[in-house]
Formats: sequence, structure tokens, C-alpha cells
Amino acid sequence: AKNAGRSRLRFFTRAMQKDAQMRLRLARDLRSALSKRQLHAFFQPIVDLKTNSIVKAEALLRWEHPTRGWISPTLFIPLAEETGLIHSIGDWILGEAVAYSKKWTKHLGRPFEISVNRSPVEFMVGSSDFAWRHIFADGGLDGCGISVEITEGVLLNASSHVAETLLQFRDAGIHVALDDFGTGYSSMSYLLNLHIDYLKIDQSFVRDIVNNRGSQTIAETMIVMAHRLGMKVIAEGVENQEQAAFLREASCDFGQGYLFERPLPATKFEELLESGPIA
Ligand code: C2E
Ligand code: CA
Ligand code: CA
Ligand code: CA
Repeated sequence: AKNAGRSRLRFFTRAMQKDAQMRLRLARDLRSALSKRQLHAFFQPIVDLKTNSIVKAEALLRWEHPTRGWISPTLFIPLAEETGLIHSIGDWILGEAVAYSKKWTKHLGRPFEISVNRSPVEFMVGSSDFAWRHIFADGGLDGCGISVEITEGVLLNASSHVAETLLQFRDAGIHVALDDFGTGYSSMSYLLNLHIDYLKIDQSFVRDIVNNRGSQTIAETMIVMAHRLGMKVIAEGVENQEQAAFLREASCDFGQGYLFERPLPATKFEELLESGPIA
């Protein structure tokens, strides 16, 4: 029995070493992914639940690895945060979002907003922030619309820096969305002090909204609260018509999810924009 325990331990140790090695290799590859043009910005539509028309889009990172294929951001974003690469990657995707927002704004003849995710690490004092500062310095969004998605994790280390940065966003005309709402651990008092434009209901609440009384109550309550505080609501992970119907009934403003469309490369998204209301 003792031997079996030891060999099991050896097995786990080896598995952990392999995992650590894989992460090291991925971190090394990620370092050159930008210059090798392996990172891509995909765009997922956010639709008005009343009309099913596309009102804006969320930019989502994709990594096309030469040997491993497509790697999920849930895997490489944490690596980018640990290694500090998130700063250059964040700058890069913001640049993409600005460029496409300008292009599609011109194309549509109305402002077309693109939202960009911003990691808590990018809020740390002393972070480079080059592209964002460029927008601030230019006196705002010349011909484009940008919003920023933050998570409650940003608010946990609520240094004054966060409030300050959010004010800069507002002054520059950048809308702020609170992502994954309801999944964090922080108190909600920040909703009173910080200027937040959109609340995004996390997909874990949307998943069983049709059958689960608890999820229904939570979603309905979030929507009422957000509206009373002057915020608009975006439901994430809307996958079927039943969920969309429930959310519409509950006065949720916007929806995002596979029911409408998956995240698409820019060229495909452009075709979608031309084709009118979806789903
Ligand atoms: P997120 O910001 O919560 O993004 C929403 C995720 O839900 C995306 O996963 C999206 O593809 C997925 N999704 C959209 N509709 C549906 C649906 O109907 N059903 C389901 N099951 N999922 C849906 P993705 O693209 O894999 O991104 C995962 C996470 O990686 C994001 O979660 C975000 O936290 C992070 N991420 C992605 N791009 C960036 C980025 O440019 N910067 C930073 N800092 N983080 C990013
Ligand atoms: Ca997001
Ligand atoms: Ca989210
Ligand atoms: Ca998430």
C-alpha cells in the first residue's frame, strides 16, 4: 500500500512537472505571438433584444498557435497576466478595436461601439497603458466608439487609481461595462461610487433561466436594480429563443450569445453587419 502511494505521488509530481513545462513553453511562444501575427481580434455582436438588430460588438482575442492550433483566451490570458505580456497584448487589441470601430462607423453612417476587455493587471499603478493614454491625450474618440469591460476583480484592490482611471474613461467618452456581474466577491457599494454604464449578467445565470426559479429571480432583480441605478443591461451567453424571450420579458436591454452569433473574424463580422437583424 505504501508503494502504491509512492508511485501515485510520483505520477502526480510528473504530471505537475509536465503541466509546468507546458505553461513555460506556451509563455515563451506567447512572447512572439504578436510579432508573428498569431493573435487575432474576433468580434461578437451585441443585439437589441427588442429589434434583434446589432448595436455593438465585443472584441475577443484568439491565438492561432502554429502547432497547437487555436488556444482559448481562458488559457493564455492568465499566462499573459503572469508574464506582463498583457500590457502589449491589451494595447494591441485596443488598436484593432479603434481601427474597426472607425471603419464600421463610417460604413454604417452611425457610431459603432466596440467593447474591449481590460484585465485587472492593466489597472495596476505604473502599467504602461500606452494605447489608452493615446486616446485620452487625443481628446477622445475621434470617429470611433469604444467601451471597456472590467470585472469585479478590478474593484477588489480598489485603490484610488481605479476610480481615477474610470473617470478618465468617462471624460474620453469611453463607456464602462461591468463584466461577469454576480460572480465576484466584492460588495456592491461600488455601484454607487463608480460610473458604470452597462451591467453584463454572467452566462451562469442565463444558462438555466428558463427552468430555474432562482436564476430567474436573480436575473430579474439585477435588471431592476441596474435600471434604477441608470445602467443598461447586457445578458451574456444567450443560446436559445426561450432565454431571449424571458430576458426580453424582464426588460433586459441587450443580448449576446450563440443564438445571435459566435465571435467572428473581422471580415465575417462585416458581412453580418450588412445583413440586418439576426435570429
Ligand atoms: P468574457 O469577457 O466573459 O467573454 C465572453 C465569453 O463567452 C467569450 O469566451 C465568448 O466567446 C463566450 N460566449 C459568447 N456567447 C456565448 C454563448 O452563447 N455560450 C457560451 N457558452 N459562451 C459564449 P472567450 O472568447 O473564450 O473568452 C473567454 C474570456 O477570456 C473572456 O470572458 C475574457 O475574460 C477573456 N478575454 C478574451 N479576450 C480578451 C482580451 O482581449 N483581453 C482580456 N483582458 N481578456 C480577454
Ligand atoms: Ca467581456
Ligand atoms: Ca463576461
Ligand atoms: Ca468571463
